[in-house]
Amino acid sequence: MVARRPRRRSIRLVIGSATHVGRIRDVNQDDVASGDDVYVVADGMGGHRGGEVASTVATAAVVQGFTGPDRASLVHAVRLANRAVLERAAADPELSGMGTTLCALAVVDGPGGQGGPDALAVVNIGDSRVYRLDAGGLVRVSDDHSLVADLVRAGELTPDEAAVHPQRNILTRALGIEADPTIDSWELPPALGDRFLLCSDGLFNELDDVRISELLGDGPAHEVAGRLVAEAVVEGGHDNVTALVVEVVDGPEVPPSGRPAIPAARPERITGPVLSRPKGDDPRATLRATIGSVAAVVIATILVLSLSAGQGWFIGDDDGDVAVFRGRPSGILWFDPTFVEGGDLRMSRLDDSTRAAVLETIPVGNLKEARRLIEGFRSHLSDPILSNPDLSNVNTGDQ
Ligand code: MG
Repeated sequence: MVARRPRRRSIRLVIGSATHVGRIRDVNQDDVASGDDVYVVADGMGGHRGGEVASTVATAAVVQGFTGPDRASLVHAVRLANRAVLERAAADPELSGMGTTLCALAVVDGPGGQGGPDALAVVNIGDSRVYRLDAGGLVRVSDDHSLVADLVRAGELTPDEAAVHPQRNILTRALGIEADPTIDSWELPPALGDRFLLCSDGLFNELDDVRISELLGDGPAHEVAGRLVAEAVVEGGHDNVTALVVEVVDGPEVPPSGRPAIPAARPERITGPVLSRPKGDDPRATLRATIGSVAAVVIATILVLSLSAGQGWFIGDDDGDVAVFRGRPSGILWFDPTFVEGGDLRMSRLDDSTRAAVLETIPVGNLKEARRLIEGFRSHLSDPILSNPDLSNVNTGDQ
């Protein structure tokens, strides 16, 4: 590992973070980590312990691998994380096929180099998100790498349709899938009072942008992450929920002219792009390009993961019955799942929240876990499932 030179920084940050398993899942596959000048959120996927291991391995690798001083170093650290996830999966058959999203923010030298104003580097792969809140409001920095996000960019879906689309969990990029994934990055000028939110999809699938903006801007930064996560759990908690809030508490003022728009992502990979972003104004050409690029990634993903596809388990809807399936309904790829058992609990008997979760499918580690969850559904048939989640389980951290 390259030793890191201590650097004098022109900005100062405070952070707060929180994560919660949610109200449906047994295991928290999200992970949040921070190191010197670097802050990371990851959302893992994969049966058994896979997702949990993938996200933890990836965040640790980024924290350790980021040695500064620039955006390229952060992108490099994400590549090291990808390699670490692949190597760990190759070494343990139980972890085969695991993957993770990842987003990170780091303080780096600005365009003037060391000694000049600092910049913030942001990276993203998958559908965890980075937002920025400033006096002008909430803006999303990162782009989702998902099937529905590609269809929104192609004009085929509206953002509102995408937000509730049953296949919104299908990713087109993640760590742990291929040797050289495309990683998006940005370099942004920080300003006093900026608040950045790094979060997993379990947060923004429960809270809309208006509510995220309200909560993110209200109260001390180190308390905000816990409130965001707690409210997402109360609003549904269908997935693991993680938030990391970074506030610029010492830094340059926003210029009177305001902030420039968030620039387009710089997608980088070592061997050249395989997945090209659609170009041109012709919507049909754009859609064809999008479908082509999505198909290319899906095919590549299937090639990589087909051996492990049967290893997943999930609870889903089988023609009006709650059922257990083998396979992967969503996540990193989408295979035809195999029906395992079911038929003795009608979907119509479930409360709204549980029914919605089952319709969306609930990944589980094995058949035993599936049966236990379904037993839990039975004991709550007339009541909302876990209507009073114990939010004392929200794990918070600040620095
Ligand atoms: Mg998630």
